[in-house]
Amino acid sequence: MRDGIAIVNPATGAPVGEVPDQPPPDVEAAVARARAAQPAWAALPFTERGRLLRRLSRRLIDDPTLMDTLTSESGKPRYEAEAIELFYTCELTRYVTGRAGRRALRDELRRPFVFANKRARVVRHPRGVIGVIGPWNWPLLNNFADCITPLACGNTVVLKPSEVAPLTSLHVGRLWREAGLPDGVLGVVTGGAPAGRALCDHVDMVFFTGGHATGKEVAQRAAERMIPIVLELGGKSPMIVLADADLPRAARAAVWSAFAHSGQVCIRTERVLVEAPVADRFVDLCAQEMTRLRAGVDVGAVTSRPLIDRVEQQIADAVARGARVVLGGKARADTPGQFFQPTLLAGAQPDMAVMNDETFGPVLPVMAVSGVDEALRIANASRFGLSGSVWSRDTARARDVARRLHAGSVCVNDALFNYFAVEAPIGGVKASGLGVRHGPEAMRQFCRVETILEDHPLLGFLSPFLASQLGFPYRSRSLRLIRRLMRWLY
Ligand code: NAD
Repeated sequence: MRDGIAIVNPATGAPVGEVPDQPPPDVEAAVARARAAQPAWAALPFTERGRLLRRLSRRLIDDPTLMDTLTSESGKPRYEAEAIELFYTCELTRYVTGRAGRRALRDELRRPFVFANKRARVVRHPRGVIGVIGPWNWPLLNNFADCITPLACGNTVVLKPSEVAPLTSLHVGRLWREAGLPDGVLGVVTGGAPAGRALCDHVDMVFFTGGHATGKEVAQRAAERMIPIVLELGGKSPMIVLADADLPRAARAAVWSAFAHSGQVCIRTERVLVEAPVADRFVDLCAQEMTRLRAGVDVGAVTSRPLIDRVEQQIADAVARGARVVLGGKARADTPGQFFQPTLLAGAQPDMAVMNDETFGPVLPVMAVSGVDEALRIANASRFGLSGSVWSRDTARARDVARRLHAGSVCVNDALFNYFAVEAPIGGVKASGLGVRHGPEAMRQFCRVETILEDHPLLGFLSPFLASQLGFPYRSRSLRLIRRLMRWLY
């Protein structure tokens, strides 16, 4: 019998399931099934694909055990499972299957300037089979939900969830079949790196969400086959708090965006840069907010055990370099689960690991800065560029600071909510990734374009004459005319 992968509830330490560690031939077979199903799926009208995807949305909402599966393998609070992961999944389905989605995929007519006798029709076709590789921190939102956009575009998908939290994806795969949705259109395979590599070796495009090192390997593998990729990687998102900000509101957002899902959120606030005159008050307000957090209800478990070691190392490094632990700082010893106390660090400095490397855990470092220029210099020195937020009562000034941040998406006077604005692209720059999710930009990524140049309905009668003058045999009279035209136009 094949070895399985044991799945453990991080909040209790109890085993919750086992999944097969599928070898590369299984993955190849899943891609072949998806490939066989793709033409029929693509041939369905856009509205019909949308109807089927929305039918699945309803099933996800009504299913009595999906949220139990999700919380049991991730250890996150039920609230985050439903109010963030499920809500987002349904909202994204609504958007991509609606009018905006259809508009993004419509043929576009463009008029060439010089040859006005022609018109270019830009046509978008699905790319074929998309391999979606997901992380463990959002078992639904960055796994099945990342399949929705490629599916709406007429691709079929093989999803490989993380080996740490694959049960939710398998659960959705089951619901897909029970809902009578077409066979082979959504496949789920389980396993670790070998299964991920095999997927990259057979699909037509990879949509990867995960760590930077793995993303680099995915990019190298995809380059061998010249297939397109979207990489959604880690970040070190800054929160910049200006002295005129609404400090209680900023502190509330800092605490939520740093400790939601115990800090295991890609666009979380990873570091705060606050103007010096208000820095102490800001730290006090954060501390007050944090005393209200309830372990297990507001702040869940740390899903991945190795993360606890990283968090401990970063805190030790920060303290050794002069930071002060205001609250927290330790793993909880009173429970069999993997919990770490939400930790607030004051006096952070740019040379600390906690200010440079992705933490992805429940630590909030706060650094006082002399002003906007220093904040931007430190923020933009990062190799990452995923997200961020800027806080000021002067919205225009905050927007100006936001524009100067090197990031794929920035909130003004809020944090995390940018992920729910599914109408607008969100993605990473620099080491945080390539490509985007959301908006028409994301839909078009999952299509290959073809341009069909045809005669203009009114001026097309000129085409035979122009072709006879401009093609073989080359005439010096035509060249003289072209030269004159160039001088006149340019
Ligand atoms: P990871 O890179 O360890 O794993 C991600 C996925 O890749 C898993 O399914 C894993 O099995 C698979 N994989 C591993 N090696 C592979 C290989 N060689 N080829 C193909 N696939 C391979 O990441 P993780 O620890 O699961 O997730 C945490 C990271 O994800 C964090 O850095 C976080 O910031 C990032 N993340 C980013 C976003 C975003 O939208 N930018 C969202 C969520 C998480």
